[in-house]
Formats: sequence, structure tokens, C-alpha cells
Amino acid sequence: MERIYLDNAATTQLDPEVIEAMLPYMHEIYGNPSAVHAFGRKARAGIEQARRMVAKLLHCAPGEIVFTSCGTEADNMAILGAVRDLGVKHVITSPIEHHAVEHVAQELERTKEAEVHWIRLTPEGKADLAHLEELLKAHEHVLVSLMHANNELGSRNDLMAIGSLCRKYNALFHTDTVQTMGHYRFDLEQLPIDFLTCSAHKFHGPKGVGFLYMRNGAVVHPLIVGGAQERNMRAGTENIIGIVALAKAMEVAYRDLDAHHAHIQALKDRMRAKVLKAVPGSTINGDPSPDSLYTVLNFHFPDDGKGEMLIYNMDIEGIACSGGSACSSGSNKGSHVIEALYPGRTGANIRFSFSKFNTEAEVDRAVEVLERVMAPAAVKV
Ligand code: PLP
Repeated sequence: MERIYLDNAATTQLDPEVIEAMLPYMHEIYGNPSAVHAFGRKARAGIEQARRMVAKLLHCAPGEIVFTSCGTEADNMAILGAVRDLGVKHVITSPIEHHAVEHVAQELERTKEAEVHWIRLTPEGKADLAHLEELLKAHEHVLVSLMHANNELGSRNDLMAIGSLCRKYNALFHTDTVQTMGHYRFDLEQLPIDFLTCSAHKFHGPKGVGFLYMRNGAVVHPLIVGGAQERNMRAGTENIIGIVALAKAMEVAYRDLDAHHAHIQALKDRMRAKVLKAVPGSTINGDPSPDSLYTVLNFHFPDDGKGEMLIYNMDIEGIACSGGSACSSGSNKGSHVIEALYPGRTGANIRFSFSKFNTEAEVDRAVEVLERVMAPAAVKV
């Protein structure tokens, strides 16, 4: 059976061009980038070239990019750093952030290092900007942490609108762009953003590498201390192979963005139309408009007693999709995102997420399987 991968919001397949770029750093360029000899200098050059590539694509200075071990680390560093080093007393965030942000906010509540304000959501799963302004008016020394696009729903916040409100009220703004990096262009000269976080494995780079963009003037202390790597911002011998690969993955993603956007959007539209027709009572979770992240499509099916085993039954038939966030990918256990947006609602939720490697034929096959799995007479595990 040929398996079909429709769980690209959880992670993506490495791009062959990225693998190619990694190879020299697995073979001959193995020096420690902190070493002064030629081996070390060559490795250092790879890292700095990668940093310049990332900075060029985001329109920021190379010194504003700190490579990290993942998106989670970058989120932790931004939020904890803003509270511990930049005098932040209030954190405004949403109940549908990824756990990499949500759990940090909960930790700050537990330790009483900051007061956390959970913003109201619109019915589409976006931050309610009127509520944001109310909260910003009422508090000083604020960090706003709101993701660009939600990993489960695809609902997308307006970074310019949120950042402008933050500037108006003198608040810092962190945004988790883990799901949108490589899929949308970011001009950090124009966008009023102080911290932005990225993870390479969401756009065909390897797992275990990401970065934090920290605007000059909003610099925090390192989260990981020890050596002087990353210009004293992140101790530990650098993941050179990963860093070089991240930059290559970004370069490829932005080079081909328009073509891939059109291809993936067409797959999403095709699947949405087919599933809404094929499964009675099905609806879209989150934002049904074209403004939603084009790689993510999340359906709700009314409770018919089959929902619980849906993801497993799809997998048995060779279709990889997800019922919750990336961390609980493959499981259909309760999602804090779905619960926050649709409290108490019963039924099944299923997320399909696409990449440039998916095809129309794969979408058609996935819909066929879904229809069969959801059919009243289907045999269940
Ligand atoms: N933020 C969002 C929105 C994500 O989707 C993820 C991964 O699922 C993360 C953060 C965590 O990134 P990483 O897996 O690199 O730690």
C-alpha cells in the first residue's frame, strides 16, 4: 500500500536540495566553529552565511538572528527573556497558542513572574483586536505573544494590525511564525515585531533547528548559558548541519513560494469542496475564508460514534493526518485549541495539512478513504 502523508503541519519531508546542502557539513566541514584553525573557520563561515541568508530574506540585520534547537526553545527564550530582562509584568496571549507559548505563559502564572491575560477569540479563531486594545490600554510593561497562524486551524492573525497596536501602547510584540515561515513573506523593516520564532522542520528543513529574531533594542539574556556561541546569546556548540540546512530550506521556500502557494491552495480547495460534499454535516474548523493558512485544513464531523477512531482508521488505510496539534499528531485526543474555540462541542475533528510534495491524486484518494471510513457500514477497529 502506498502511504499518503497529509500531516505537514506536524513536520515535513526534507527537500532534496536541502539534503544536498547538508552533505559537505556531514563530510569534510566538521570543525568546531569556535576553533581558530582553518577547520573551525570553514564551519564558522557556513553559519554566518546561513545567518546572512535568513536576515536577507526577512529584511533584518544578521545580528538579530539567534539560531536555536527548535521553535519551542525560541518561543521560551523570547517570552521568558522579555519578562526576566525587559521589565515585562503583563503577558497578553491567546488560549490557542501552541504549547511552546501556552505552557510558558502558564509557568509565568504559576511563578507569579508576570500576570497573564488570555485574549478573546473571534469565531474564526483569530485574536479579538478590540479586546487586545482594551487590555493594552489597561496595563503597562506588556508583552503580547500571538501566533501568526494557528497550527491546528490555520486561522491567521494580522501581524501589522497587532504590531501597530503594540507600538501605539508601547508594548513588546512576540509572534510565533513556526507555521508560516517559508509560506508568507515577512519584511521586518516594515512589520512592528520585536520577537519572531521559526522552526526548520515545518518547511522541508531538518528537525532540531530554529531561530529567534530579536529586534535590536529588544535583546534578552540567553536561555542556555555556558559558552559564548551565537554571539553570547545561546551557549552550546552550534548545530552546523542544521543551521546550514535551515537557511537552504528558507532560500528554496522563498524562491519557489508563489508556485507552491498556488499548488497547495488548489489542493486545499479541492479537498474542502470534496469533503464537504462527501461527509454529511461536515464543517470547517477555524477560518473558512481564503485568508486562512493555505497548508492547513481542519474539518469537524458531527458526533456519530465513529469519530474517536477516525485518525487510526485513516492510518490503517494509508492516510497520515492528525486530530490535534503537531505534538499529539496521530492521536485524536482532546485539543486545547478546539476546546477553546468550540467549548463542549462533541464530534470528530480531523486536520489535513499539505506540502508542495502532495498531489491532486493523493487528495482524491484521501477523500475516498475518508468517505469509506465515515460510511455507516464501515468496519472499525
Ligand atoms: N509553534 C507552533 C505554532 C508549532 O506548530 C510548533 C510545532 O508543532 C512549535 C511552535 C514547536 O516547534 P518545534 O517542534 O521546533 O519545537
